[in-house]
Amino acid sequence: MKSRIKYMKFSECSQKGGRMNAAKRIEKKQLAEIDMHGREQKPIEPLLERMPRIKINDTYYYENRFFVIAGPCSVENREQMEKVGETFKEIKGIVEGFSGILVLRGGAYKPRTSPRSFQGLGEEGLKLLKEIKDAVGMPIVSEIVDPRHVELFAKYDLDILQIGARNAQNYELIREAARSMKPILLKRGMAEGLTEWLGAAQYILEEGNEQVILCERGIKAGANDGFTRNVLDLPTALLAKEANLPVIIDPSHATGRVDLIKQLSHLIALSNLDGIMIEAHPSPREALSDRNQQLTLEELADLIEDIAQLREIYYKLNTLNNKDLKPIGAIEYNAQQL
Ligand code: PEP
Ligand code: MN
Repeated sequence: MKSRIKYMKFSECSQKGGRMNAAKRIEKKQLAEIDMHGREQKPIEPLLERMPRIKINDTYYYENRFFVIAGPCSVENREQMEKVGETFKEIKGIVEGFSGILVLRGGAYKPRTSPRSFQGLGEEGLKLLKEIKDAVGMPIVSEIVDPRHVELFAKYDLDILQIGARNAQNYELIREAARSMKPILLKRGMAEGLTEWLGAAQYILEEGNEQVILCERGIKAGANDGFTRNVLDLPTALLAKEANLPVIIDPSHATGRVDLIKQLSHLIALSNLDGIMIEAHPSPREALSDRNQQLTLEELADLIEDIAQLREIYYKLNTLNNKDLKPIGAIEYNAQQL
C-alpha cells in the first residue's frame, strides 16, 4: 500500500528520475508562486498527486462529489435515531439526485469539555448507528477517541472514522485509525494552522491510507465575543484543497447557531468545497449535547432541498466556464470496473 503514495517534495522528485510527472507538476506550481504581475503567493505543497477516491462499501466516490453528513451531535436513544432514520429515507433520494453522498453522523464517544457532561452511549451508540444504517441504507460516521476502539468501529461497520478537533494532533490515535484503511474525516484542531492540519493528514497518508477528508470546523480566535462559537476560516479551507484532499465544512460547530448554519450551507453548496457536516436532532431543546446548534429534522430536510437547487446551479456555472467537472451521475464506478 505504501508505494501508492506519491511523495511530492520537488527536491525528492527531481532526485528520483522515476517520478518525472510529479516533478513537472510541482515545477509548474513553484513557478506559479510569482505570477506574471509579480505577485507572490505562498504555495501549498500537494500531499497527493491527485484527489483520492473515497471508497465506501464497494463504491469509489470520485472528485466533485458533495458530502452531506448530517445527524445528531450525540446518539442518545433508539427513538431519537429512528426519527433521524425516517428523515434520512426522505432526503436520501434528493441527495443522490445531485450526485451527493449522504452520510449519517452521530457521536457515541463524546469528548466533552466537562467530565460531568453527557459522555455518549459508547458501544451502544455505535450499535444504534449500525441499526439505522441497515434500515435506511447509507454510510455512517462517528468520532473515534481511543486507538483501542478501531476493532469496535469495524464490528459495527462504521464507514468513516472521525478524528475530532480535540484529537487533531493525537498522532497515535490518527495512525491507528488510518490503519483501518477506512476513510478518515479529519477535523482541524481548534488552534491549528494549515501546516499542522495538513501534517496530521500526512500521518494518515504515511500509513498507506489515502482516503482523507479534511473538515474545517472553526478555530479559536481572539475577536470572538460570544455571538459565534468559533471563527470559520473559509480561506484556509479553500487553500487546504490545494493539497489535493477533499475539504468539507462543519458550520454547526463553527458558529453554534442555526441562523448562520443555513446561510453558510448555502454558500458552501455554491463553492468548490466538497461538502458539509450539519448537526440535526428530532427535538434540539432536549438534546444532551450542543442543543443550540442542532437543526430540527424538518429544517434539515428543507436545507437539503435548497442545497439540491444550489448544486444544480453550481454544476451549470462550472460547465459554462468549461471547468473540468464531470456531468452529474457519471462519476461513480463500481469497484469491479477499476
Ligand atoms: C463533533 O462533530 O461531534 C464534534 C465534537 O466536533 P469537533 O471535534 O469539531 O468539536
Ligand atoms: Mn456537537
